[in-house]
Amino acid sequence: MTDVHDKATRSYNMSRVRGKDTKPEMLVRKFLFSKGFRYRLHDKKLPGKPDIVLPKYKTVIFINGCFWHGHEGCRYFVVPKTRTEWWVEKIKRNKENDSAKINSLVEKGWNVIIIWECLLKPVNRDTTLGKLDSDIRAFTGS
Ligand SMILES: [Zn+2]
Repeated sequence: MTDVHDKATRSYNMSRVRGKDTKPEMLVRKFLFSKGFRYRLHDKKLPGKPDIVLPKYKTVIFINGCFWHGHEGCRYFVVPKTRTEWWVEKIKRNKENDSAKINSLVEKGWNVIIIWECLLKPVNRDTTLGKLDSDIRAFTGS
């Protein structure tokens, strides 16, 4: 197999290979746990297999990588200079899948919270997690 990826892309890929227990997700899990929330992980029965499910609050949380999920206007979302069209198409499809899964969860009455990875960087983290806490508690169902 020829390695068609440039270095930056490759390190992105490598960071995603670790998969389910990525650092940003662990951060959110630890926070929720410390606040007394109890959750399930990667629930296959729900559309899009949400990263975190809080049954008691009818809330699901997705922790989105800024690159793979195409975080608009984010400095971590930079389309690679090689195979640019392929990446644009790929990320566009990821975003379409995201909208579809969010829509079907909302239709089923779930509160859907998306957390972008850049908002979990140390400079934004406390604000993001504080907001997450209140967003979960504020949801009273629809
Ligand atoms: Zn971002």
